[in-house]
Formats: sequence, C-alpha cells, structure tokens
Amino acid sequence: MKKIYSVLCAAAISGAIFTSCSDTEEFRNPNMPSSEELSAIESAGFSINGAFKSDDGSLWIENDINLTLEQLKGMKPGSIVNEQYSTDNLVLTNGSRLVTMYAPEGGNSGYSPGMIAGLDEAIARYNAQNLEITFQRITTDNADIRMTRLRKGDERRGILGSAGFPTAAGDPHNEIKMSGILESTYNLSTAGIATIIAHEMGHCVGFRHTDFFDRSISCGGSPSNEGASTVGANHIPGTPTGANPSTDLSFMLSCTDGGDRPFTGNDQIALDFLY
Ligand SMILES: [Zn+2]
Repeated sequence: MKKIYSVLCAAAISGAIFTSCSDTEEFRNPNMPSSEELSAIESAGFSINGAFKSDDGSLWIENDINLTLEQLKGMKPGSIVNEQYSTDNLVLTNGSRLVTMYAPEGGNSGYSPGMIAGLDEAIARYNAQNLEITFQRITTDNADIRMTRLRKGDERRGILGSAGFPTAAGDPHNEIKMSGILESTYNLSTAGIATIIAHEMGHCVGFRHTDFFDRSISCGGSPSNEGASTVGANHIPGTPTGANPSTDLSFMLSCTDGGDRPFTGNDQIALDFLY
C-alpha cells in the first residue's frame, strides 16, 4: 500500500553517489507525523511508510513528495497520475494553459547559472512537445510553480528534488524543492539537471513514476511497489504497462543516475495523451 515515492529518489541521481532510495532510512528518524497527518496521507492514497515531518511542518511522503497537511486534505482520493501512469487529478488546460515558473537566482538561497540553464532546458523540452500545457520561466516571485532550494543538509546528503501532484481544482502543484548543488558538487551536465527538473515538473502536472509498481526496476534493491492507492496510478493508453529502462529510459523512472533522459517515445505518447 505504498504509493508514490518519487522524486527524491529520482534524486537517487548518480547511482553511486546517491543511492537513491536507500537514503530513505535517513528520512525516517526525524519527526514522526501526527495521527491526523498519517490519516491524511493515507486518505490521499499515499503510503505512510517512511513518511516524516520536516522542520517547516510539511510532510515528506514516499521519498520525494513534499506536501503540507492542507494540500493533502485538498487532494481528492485517487488523483495521481504516472508517466505512463498518472494521477487522477490533472491540470485543467481548457485547451491551452501557460504555467509560469520562478526560481531565485544567485546568492546563498538561489541557483547558479548552470541550474537555471537546467530549468530553462526542462521548460524547453516540454514546450517542444506542442502540448496544451506550456511553461515559461519568469523572474518575479509570483509564478504558478516556485522552484526553491532544499535545506542545505538535505542537499549534501544527496537529495535531488521533490514535488507534489495537481490539486483537485486542476492546478499544478505549486512548488518544487530542488537541490542547488547538482552542478557544483555532483558535476551534472545541464541536460542531467534538466532531466531531474523535468521529472519534478512531471509530478506537478500529474505523472507518477513509470516503475511505481516496482521501484527496484530503476532504483535497484528489493522489489518495492508504491501502490496505486486512492490517488490513482492510471495507465496511460498507448504506453507499456511495464517499465524497461534498457529500452525506455523514461524521465519518470523512480531513480536516476544523473544522466540525460530526454523524453522517450513512450514519454511523448504519455504527454500527448494527458495534455
Ligand atoms: Zn519522482
């Protein structure tokens, strides 16, 4: 009955460096969610395994999902989609919708030019697909999706990023927490950084992990099913029900080695179907 795991693990970036999902242990010790929070997590269809409360009061769920209690309560049961699997809630486009994004630049809490280049590349990848949803980076802090730095300690221990899922009202999840040291410390290329940001953006608009049913496909280790739960893991027509990284290195696989994963043919089918 686990559910979505994700992004963070995606964070599992460079295999050797961050062994992804095995970082989970570290996430378990901090703050235990209250019974109300655990209940809200389950009601939204996520697994409570490994869930913990951050210092800022938000909840970390299934590795890379970061939501507040209010956001959880706003999710109608069964609303999450995956790449080739998606949540029940999707972003309402009414034929065409521009989603703006903002990321602070420079300084201790902002991003380096290389990280911003990665964000721009991720946006360009989506926009090149001619979807009903398009993205645009703006430089004022009033965007639909804010990309902000993870806590420094989390960045140092190899967390790559996190995100949430669309709201019941049809809006994208409004925040991506992304490591700011992917370039400086982990030496990822712009394309590799873009891949991770595109993955988090994918969650924000309703993608679940391509291998949600068995994270070990991309993360290694023991088989682990994130589960469909009540949030939903809807198979996207036209895409495989399985996940095979050797033939389809989807950007929505649970874990990544930090390399470049441009949209595969199946990713594009999924994007076209959803948007
Ligand atoms: Zn993910």
